[in-house]
Amino acid sequence: MSEHTFDLVILGAGSGGYAAALRASQLGMTVGLIEKHKVGGTCLHVGCIPTKALLHAAEVADAARDSAKFGVRATLEGIDVPAVTAYREGIIASKYKGLQGLIKARGITTIEGEGRLTSPTTVQVGEQTITGKNVILATGSYSRSLPGLEIGGRVITSEQALQLDYVPKKVAVLGGGVIGVEFSSVWRSWGAEVVIIEALPHLVPNEDEAISKQFERAYRKRGIDFKLGVRFQGVTQDDNGVVVTLESGETIEADLLLVAVGRGPMTANLGFEEVGVAMDRGFVLTDERLRTNVPGVYAVGDIVPGLQLAHRGFQHGIFVAEEIAGLQPVVISDVNVPKVTYSEPEVASVGLTEAKAKEQYGEAQIASYDYNLAGNGKSHILETAGIIKVIRVVDGPVVGVHMIGARVGELIGEAQLAVNWDAHPEDIAPLLHAHPTQNEALGEAFLALAGKPLHGI
Ligand SMILES: Cc1cc2nc3c(=O)[nH]c(=O)nc-3n(C[C@H](O)[C@H](O)[C@H](O)COP(=O)(O)OP(=O)(O)OC[C@H]3O[C@@H](n4cnc5c(N)ncnc54)[C@H](O)[C@@H]3O)c2cc1C
Repeated sequence: MSEHTFDLVILGAGSGGYAAALRASQLGMTVGLIEKHKVGGTCLHVGCIPTKALLHAAEVADAARDSAKFGVRATLEGIDVPAVTAYREGIIASKYKGLQGLIKARGITTIEGEGRLTSPTTVQVGEQTITGKNVILATGSYSRSLPGLEIGGRVITSEQALQLDYVPKKVAVLGGGVIGVEFSSVWRSWGAEVVIIEALPHLVPNEDEAISKQFERAYRKRGIDFKLGVRFQGVTQDDNGVVVTLESGETIEADLLLVAVGRGPMTANLGFEEVGVAMDRGFVLTDERLRTNVPGVYAVGDIVPGLQLAHRGFQHGIFVAEEIAGLQPVVISDVNVPKVTYSEPEVASVGLTEAKAKEQYGEAQIASYDYNLAGNGKSHILETAGIIKVIRVVDGPVVGVHMIGARVGELIGEAQLAVNWDAHPEDIAPLLHAHPTQNEALGEAFLALAGKPLHGI
């Protein structure tokens, strides 16, 4: 038995946990960071980074396939999946090494092993008792399935999808949310047939309806098939493939079924309930300052109900470290967290959808403008279609920005500044957007809502 005492103990070193550790150490706290697998968590090792590397390899494949359009003679001979894996793993290894170095340089103590909360101030890791004045729960999430739908063999989640060493011929994807459409995008670019099954009426169903509809058009054009508003019933598999049955009676044959129905909180059997932490269906309940009901115990990242995104985890971690240090950080509500879907085309949004804005402010108080990327020079050069939709309160601030088109994820920075700073389009209108950039399209939408469109009407 050994005992270790810190100002702050953090259980889980993913985006939320390690951000808290880095900020707390900057603020002069001693930190014990407990991790059972690898610092960096889901995002670095099996989430954001590896999938975005795959999407880049998909973009390169598309560029080669479509090169003649741009006057370049190239042919796409095929996808060398082991080489893509080597490229991807090289990025992860480098980032992992960098993160380990940073954690060490900040004087944070990393404790390897599986931790269990045993009191409001202690976590047990094997024979070690780790004590902190404050404790942050940051254990993250896992790929969920549906009741009765067993993962194994040809029925896979994103973790196994990343391990595939070949391009499947045909994939059925259960779930038209972010993870489902991103993998669909990769596989389609690599030549696979893809069919997405989504129980809700739209793909990317959490987005503004205008964006979802454009997205569906774009996917249809890419030859990605999808079944909307229909529920999955069951799946059988053998050596040759899977047969998926829908509640409509329709069946789909494919090589694989990717289950992408969301992520559940990783909180089972970790002692949280025993210590009295209030939970709901496995999620840890907090107030807006990320305090649980147990004094001194905080929660961050995917285990806190709401958006499951890495940068929300980073922000949570920084927030709690500053809160403990008494700096009274500003609360960022989930609605103002920027969201990007990194498929082809990309979707990026922040703030209220038009429907939500009208619900909140009243229909007459909302003005919205759709700028069509067809009018934007850089988008035309890239041969991408899409829209930038900006929503404002009449005589008031921008409350939502919703975008679709190649590379629009890179525009979300300005969009989230506008929304989070309560900027009025009139404030932004005099500020410049470089030409020719896709950023100009966002600028045009702000200009239009300020009553002075330049290239729009
Ligand atoms: C395929 C995929 C793609 C994604 N793409 C994006 C993206 O592009 N952009 C984006 O913003 N988000 C993306 N996400 C979501 C993002 O990965 C998560 O929101 C983020 O990782 C959450 O951070 P976290 O700290 O809450 O949890 P995690 O990153 O899951 O970290 C939790 C850590 O806690 C450790 N742990 C758990 N229990 C214990 C224990 N008992 N003892 C010790 N250690 C423990 C785990 O090993 C893990 O390292 C993606 C996710 C997936 C699956």
